[in-house]
Amino acid sequence: MDYYGSQMSKLIEQLSSLPGIGGKSAQRLAFHIIHMPKEQVRQLTSAITDARENIRYCKECCTLTDQEICPICANAQRDHKTIMVVENTRDLAAYEKTGKYEGVYHVLHGAISPMLGIGPADIRLKELMQRLQGDVNEVIIATNSSLEGETTAMYISKLIKPTGIKVSRIASGVPVGGDLEYIDEVTLLRALEGRTAL
Ligand code: ZN
Repeated sequence: MDYYGSQMSKLIEQLSSLPGIGGKSAQRLAFHIIHMPKEQVRQLTSAITDARENIRYCKECCTLTDQEICPICANAQRDHKTIMVVENTRDLAAYEKTGKYEGVYHVLHGAISPMLGIGPADIRLKELMQRLQGDVNEVIIATNSSLEGETTAMYISKLIKPTGIKVSRIASGVPVGGDLEYIDEVTLLRALEGRTAL
């Protein structure tokens, strides 16, 4: 029985396909949307469409950006010889929020997980190794302290060792399985400052 009419039902169905949005939340959002000013709805939908159309991977660090080179990589003030390797763009944002890291990043978009069938070729490792052909002093591995994050860190350090480039790992103290984005800035900075050579 379609209580709402097909367009309302379609909206609810679309919203409930989003992660973390169950049927009830989808209904609530749908009712909210149909009561919003039309102009605001247009802004919301065009923000979604524009983001999806234009956002791509930075040619240097693979983070998400709407330009060819992201603002961090394009910034000449940053230390381009220090590369921090993170699992995703949210982790990058967490370090950027501290405002204390002056190097650049490399975003893997995942971590190695034999359990989930995610291998080294499924994350942006090849791109990292290509960057290391350039002038690089240090690679700081800031993957999560989960099993997958640790596996990835070990794998990367073994790959980089023969190049002679310094490799370090952020200090533990970051809770196991904890996503970097949920950790406060002081803890992040401590983890960065207390990094150890691998
Ligand atoms: Zn970049």
